[in-house]
Parts: sequence; structure tokens; C-alpha cells
Amino acid sequence: MKSLTILGATGSIGQNTIDLVAREPDRWRIEALTGGRNIKQLAADARRLGARLAVTCEPGLYGRLRDELAGSGIEAAAGPQALAEAAARPADLAVSAIVGAAGLVPGLTVLQRGGTLALANKETLVCAGPLVMATARATGARILPVDSEHCAIFQVLSGEDIATVERVIITASGGAFRDWSLEQLATATVAQASTHPNWAMGQRITIDSASMFNKALEVIEAHQFFAIDPHRIEVLIHPQSLVHALVGFHDGALMAHVGPPDMRHAIGYALNWPERRPLPVERLDLSRIGELSFFAPDPARYPALGLAWQVMAAGGLAGAIFNAAKEAALDAFIAGRIGFTAMSVVVEQVMDRMTPESGPVGAAMTLDAVLAADRLARIRAGEIISTMD
Ligand code: NAD
Ligand code: MG
Repeated sequence: MKSLTILGATGSIGQNTIDLVAREPDRWRIEALTGGRNIKQLAADARRLGARLAVTCEPGLYGRLRDELAGSGIEAAAGPQALAEAAARPADLAVSAIVGAAGLVPGLTVLQRGGTLALANKETLVCAGPLVMATARATGARILPVDSEHCAIFQVLSGEDIATVERVIITASGGAFRDWSLEQLATATVAQASTHPNWAMGQRITIDSASMFNKALEVIEAHQFFAIDPHRIEVLIHPQSLVHALVGFHDGALMAHVGPPDMRHAIGYALNWPERRPLPVERLDLSRIGELSFFAPDPARYPALGLAWQVMAAGGLAGAIFNAAKEAALDAFIAGRIGFTAMSVVVEQVMDRMTPESGPVGAAMTLDAVLAADRLARIRAGEIISTMD
């Protein structure tokens, strides 16, 4: 039996994790579940799975969580400090399924205690990749990527020498607006951006998929996690979302990972690693699918994507700035304050204003410096947004 903590248990990745874990109750003992405002879901899952601890990140919701758990013997806690304490508790595996930069401290806490972190929260690596990887090296902690593309690359690379890799190709569905004209894009609504053609995910990553900010984050994530040079990373639009990533080796071989668009594959792979166990996902019938297509993304349509290479070239705190500006722009879009295409304008302007002051490539990266850059980028983004609405 393995002990497991799920950070962000009430979200899309968290619920998919619970789906898998609940099928094998004899294999998993749940140490802690954490969530946000959805107290009913958090408490119900904590009871169903027999968790020892349940934490909401919302300090004001402590009373409600405690009441929902009354008589269960499950400990209740609330607030960011309690979240970090949940992450610090020993568990064989912790899944980080929190959305946004809020996942950084809990994820880093798991690594600081030398734990194994199944990482869906790509922002952890985007904001603080060098710090995160150095922490894992120093404590002997392990990171297992759960983002589907990175899990795919991880699988393709197993048993391979990273020095033989010529290129990594990350695929993108193209999101909700793949076939829209540029004029139409400017008028896209939140509801339209919140539906994905192939994947069922949380609202924020779904909108990020439509704008390709998600792919920009994933390019940086791959650069940080696999230590691959930026010029070796490519993105291809692949509308079927069945080939999740490809790795090109120096003998000309191109190895692809093919699977259904179901996050339970990547989550299950990480849960079971280093074993490969049966998973309840669809088996693809390629003769019925018939065709897999690929094409290069149009930079004019997806300005967010190009910013990833700007971030990687700048290094240092550029990732934290980029992500925080993106989160602020996304909040403003969801709130109806700015249009869909204005998001990348906001982020680009924040980066232009802040990159020079954020320190050179390789500057010592501390958690405090990352969090300060994150805060300042949100302030700068707010200033720019207020001139737009
Ligand atoms: P979601 O919005 O569905 O769930 C987010 C979870 O984080 C919820 O449990 C929520 O309560 C919690 N949370 C939100 N704000 C928080 C805060 N400030 N502090 C602590 N907890 C907070 O998100 P999701 O779609 O499950 O995505 C989670 C992460 O996984 C993201 O980083 C996303 O990019 C990544 N990811 C998701 C998918 C997917 O299929 N959904 C695929 C690949 C990667
Ligand atoms: Mg992904």
C-alpha cells in the first residue's frame, strides 16, 4: 500500500486522479486532499477515500470544512500555510494538481522533503524551473511529469540517452479557435474560449489552450524539466490530439507517443511508475481514426507561443514574470475587462517593461525572488489592463 496526497483534488486533474485511486482502494492510503471553494466535493472525497487530512486554501472556509467533516475523524485545515504543511507531510507520492503559480510553494515543499511529486502544475517549472530542479537534485526528490505531452516525452525517453536527442516536438490541438479568422478571434467570448475540441479540462487551461499560452507554458516546462535547448523544441498543430509528443534522435528516428485524449493515462502512468499497469482508458482503433494530421502553427494567430522562446532566452525570473502576467491577463479576460487577443498584448508589454530589471540569465533564483517577481508582474499587468478597459 502506498500513501498519497492530492494537492488540488477538487479540480479536473484531481478528480481524474481520484477516479483512478478509487478503483484500487487496497493500493492507496490517502494522507491529505486539498481544494479551494468546493468544500462539499473536498469533504465528500475525503470521507469516501478515508483521508487523514483535508485542507481548503480559503482561510474563510475553515468552519464549513470542519462542519462537513464532523464525526469523520478527518482533520480539517485552511489557508496557504496549511496547504504547505499538507505538502510537507510524509507520503510516498504527492500529485500537484493545483492551477497557477499557487502550486509552486506546495510542490516545492514536497521536493524539499525529498518526496516524489507527480506534477500536473506546469506553472511550478515555468516560474521556478532552475530552483525546482536544483531542489530535487539536492534532496534526491523525484518529479514525474503529468502534463500529457511531458509524460509522453518521459516515456519515449525511458532507456534513451538524452545526449542523442536532436529535437522534441510537442503537439497542440489548436484549441477552440483553430479555424477562426484573426478578426473573429478579437471578438471571442469567455464561453466560446472555455470549450475545448478534444480535452475536458479546467476552465483556465482550456482558455490557455485556445490562446496557445498553454503551449507556451509547456515549451518552457519541457526546457526546464528535460534540460533541452530551446532551439530543439518544436510545436506542431495536431487537431486529433492523439499523438501527444515526438522525440527525434540523432540517428533520424522519430518516436511518437500515441494515446487517447484522456488525462488518466498520464496520471495513471505517474501513479504506477516505475511499473506500467493496466489503465481504464480507451484503446485507439487507428483504422477507424484513419488520419493523423500535423501542421505548423501560424505565428500571427498565436503570438503567445513565440513569447516562450523570449522567456527561455531571458532566463532568470522571466518565467515567473511571464506566468504571472498571463494569469492576470486571463483573470481580466474572464472578468470581461479585456478581449481575447489583448491577453498576449498585456503579457508582452509586462515582459518588455520587466525583463531588464529581472536579472541576468542564471541569476541566483530564490523562492523570495520568484514570488516578488510574480507580485510585481501582476501589478504591472494590472496597470496595463486598466489602460485598456
Ligand atoms: P482546475 O481549475 O480544474 O483545478 C484546480 C485545483 O486547484 C482545484 O482543486 C482548486 O481548488 C485548486 N486551487 C485553485 N486555486 C488555488 C490556490 N490559490 N491555492 C490552492 N489551490 C488552488 O485545474 P485543472 O484543469 O485540473 O489543472 C490543474 C493543473 O494541471 C494546472 O496547472 C494545469 O495547467 C495542469 N494540467 C491540467 C490538465 C487537464 O486536463 N485539466 C492537463 C495538463 C495539465
Ligand atoms: Mg499538456
